[in-house]
Amino acid sequence: MIIDGKKIASDLREKLKKNIIEIKSKFKIVPGLSVILVGEDPASKIYVKNKEKFSKEIGIDSKVIRYPENIEEKTVLNKIIELNNDKNVSGILVQLPLPKHINKQKVIETIHPSKDVDGFHPINVGNLSSGYDTRIPCTPLGCLLLLKEIEKNLSGKHAVVVGRSNLNGKPMAQLLLRENCTVTITHSKTKDLKSECIKADIIIAAVGIPKLIKGNWVKKNAIVIDVGINKTESGIVGDVDFNEVSKIAKAITPVPGGVGPMTIACLLNNTVECFKRTNS
Ligand code: NAP
Repeated sequence: MIIDGKKIASDLREKLKKNIIEIKSKFKIVPGLSVILVGEDPASKIYVKNKEKFSKEIGIDSKVIRYPENIEEKTVLNKIIELNNDKNVSGILVQLPLPKHINKQKVIETIHPSKDVDGFHPINVGNLSSGYDTRIPCTPLGCLLLLKEIEKNLSGKHAVVVGRSNLNGKPMAQLLLRENCTVTITHSKTKDLKSECIKADIIIAAVGIPKLIKGNWVKKNAIVIDVGINKTESGIVGDVDFNEVSKIAKAITPVPGGVGPMTIACLLNNTVECFKRTNS
């Protein structure tokens, strides 16, 4: 089975659109999302454009603040503080990567945890690992929602997460643990990745290496979620060899059209959640 991320993301956006209509009639305002974009990175510009488009489509008041590559760190931090204090702003996102002269950690820590739609603030990271209610990073949340479409109850499943980045692998592992999975986290120093993957009921691949996960690495009936987005000569491919693995797995996400659309839908979800938490 191919997991249709586009359709699942579209259903989530529809649900959020209805939520926002209710919010508007009750509070006379709508959730607001402010996105800060520094520089001219082409991929970042496309991501931000899509975030703005989908926000507007469902009724979020979306604003993009654009700065040139050489903007001073202080200006960005001051803007974040201004947005933290703006009642019309429910969520703040600073598009990564940032230019080298801007300290990413300082930027993340300046965003108020209650407006941290990306779930990157150390307080939110700590809350997630402590099992408390918090903002969950958008891509892992999207992966979990895709998994839940296939299997409502993940309890007792053996999940192997390939990659341990703060953005994907680590929060993904925490989310799966929260679902009572037995979780193995693998990374570049893992001795025998194939022998770890072949034991998995669930594989989440977030590595950044085209087609790393092969058909003979996957157990029959496993669910495989491919986070990877890799530009190759033959186009965009994931971290999973789709042709091989789709013949073995019970369900698999395609690239594109799997996790990608869910990441944006979950950002919109987190913006609405931030609004609800501050206004309940
Ligand atoms: P990242 O920060 O570069 O982390 C990659 C992780 O993979 C690291 O933990 C690294 O291990 C591990 N790794 C590298 N080579 C490995 C190997 N041979 N075997 C096992 N693990 C290995 O990447 P990321 O930001 O998590 O992104 C991963 C992929 O997801 C990229 O293709 C990115 O474009 C994509 N992505 C997609 C979305 C989406 O919406 N679909 C969102 C974000 C990212 P070490 O820690 O030991 O270095």
